[in-house]
Amino acid sequence: GDKGLVVSFGEMLIDFVPTESGVSLSESSGFLKAPGGAPANVAIAVSRLGGRAAFVGKLGDDDFGHMLAGILRKNGVDDQGINFDRGARTALAFVTLRSDGEREFMFYRNPSADMQTLRRYELNLELIRSAKVFHYGSISLITEPCRSAHMKAMEVAKEAGALLSYDPNLREPLWPSHEEARTQIMSIWDKADIIKVSDVELEFLTGNKTIDDETAMSLWHPTLKLLLVTLGENGCRYYTKDFHGSVETFHVDAVDTTGAGDSFVGALLNKIVDDHSVLEEEERLRKVLRFANACGAITTTKKGAIPALPSDCEALSFL
Ligand code: ADP
Repeated sequence: GDKGLVVSFGEMLIDFVPTESGVSLSESSGFLKAPGGAPANVAIAVSRLGGRAAFVGKLGDDDFGHMLAGILRKNGVDDQGINFDRGARTALAFVTLRSDGEREFMFYRNPSADMQTLRRYELNLELIRSAKVFHYGSISLITEPCRSAHMKAMEVAKEAGALLSYDPNLREPLWPSHEEARTQIMSIWDKADIIKVSDVELEFLTGNKTIDDETAMSLWHPTLKLLLVTLGENGCRYYTKDFHGSVETFHVDAVDTTGAGDSFVGALLNKIVDDHSVLEEEERLRKVLRFANACGAITTTKKGAIPALPSDCEALSFL
């Protein structure tokens, strides 16, 4: 039958990525215009892998905003949850790449100003109710009215029976303070069925520099089904109420890690959207995480986020 729908909620913006690596922004002789924004990346990741995905968010009613919507459509992502705002401008981010492929962000204008103006009544509730998985980050929690829209969307999806997937995707410089980021991120913690954090986020949220099982489990909540900690070139760790362990990733020459986590999440969600029982069987979950690691690894081998998300064929031949 039809594949289940993954609805991804949040920001979409344009990353300007230097054409050379290891240079500062001002030294760069050119930039690649790379569409991104974690929730949009996840929607496209799912779609590229052959799944059904929709994006819910707000874009500026300008050339950049329409370009972004076009990219979603071209990649097979349902765009019926996008609002265009005449008053808003599409957010732009300049991304510096260090020589090791790690990235640093600099935002132009109010970061994701467009998405931040999304109001509850602008949500396409019918689309959200049809989600089998509802995925979101935390950038949409930074200010009102978007924070309320985010809460409402989550509530509607959950009531309709969707699995809630949360990647806090901390961008610390976007928040007014460390404490505010932590408070807002944790305010919706208990609602999620699946949570993915990076090692950096685990440290940020727990205040604990030791990345071990005890630290990870301190983030556990009673109705959580799966907690994932991604560790870059060291793969990922997984925790459920019954078992935990780690899955190694693949050795690649990383040139740009932007989007690796989103690629990982998209792959995971695409595998579980029609079969939640994967979360209860360790061997099957490990297979899915191996696939997700492969997708994350592939994404680091190319510049930009969206252009680097693998298709199903690419991922399978990589494996
Ligand atoms: P995020 O992008 O959210 O910070 P990570 O950098 O941990 O997340 O990447 C997500 C996943 O992508 C990792 O769990 C791993 O499977 C894969 N990955 C990331 N970086 C590398 C790398 N350098 N080599 C191989 N796989 C990688």
